[in-house]
Amino acid sequence: MGFASALVLFAHPDDAEYMCGGTVAHWAGNGTEVHYVVVTDGSAGSNEPGMTREQISGIRKPEQDEAARVLGVRTVTFLDFPDGMLEVNLETRMAEVLVAPDPSRLWFGRRYINHADHRAAGELALCAVMPDAPSRPQFPELLEAGFEPYEVPNLWLSTEEPDTYVDITKTIDLKMEALTKHRSQGVEDDLQWVRDRAKELGEKGGVEYAEGFLAFSLKEEEEAEGR
Ligand SMILES: [Zn+2]
Repeated sequence: MGFASALVLFAHPDDAEYMCGGTVAHWAGNGTEVHYVVVTDGSAGSNEPGMTREQISGIRKPEQDEAARVLGVRTVTFLDFPDGMLEVNLETRMAEVLVAPDPSRLWFGRRYINHADHRAAGELALCAVMPDAPSRPQFPELLEAGFEPYEVPNLWLSTEEPDTYVDITKTIDLKMEALTKHRSQGVEDDLQWVRDRAKELGEKGGVEYAEGFLAFSLKEEEEAEGR
């Protein structure tokens, strides 16, 4: 799987490590330029009384940077929408994507039951790649800033029911290490099931450990439809 570049879009610091940390490390190790876009500021990720949004965000952003460094991610961009209040609107739709959460079936939820931000981040990804309808005038401020519409060639959704598996046998330890960088999130309790899940997907993919995605090759589909 030789992508030149990958953009991983997700709601909160730590989501990408859960969804696709092994894949990111695998790609980065093979020369893919991987970039992260974290849609929220992570500022609601604590139940500790007295913690302000500012403090929580100030802890979680450096954790995300550390985790990204472990995996070989080139850049981490925070769009800084408030954690817990992510909405699908014209402002939030100005992102583009390669890897994102499946809005209805992200695997660390239960089918449609999931964090509202995760669903919104997935929905935003789908809005951003919608390739059919001409929409150049929709975001004049982007055109003014020099950004022309870009057609995303591949969209991979992290999902419960994948059709594409990435062998992460060699990078699962990096995924685990990156996850542990999110110290404020109590990830230690999750390490076992994350590993179990990778093993389960590995069995389906015919390898020891895997991550799974629902993969859309958007260009090919257009060609297949004769456009
Ligand atoms: Zn999350």
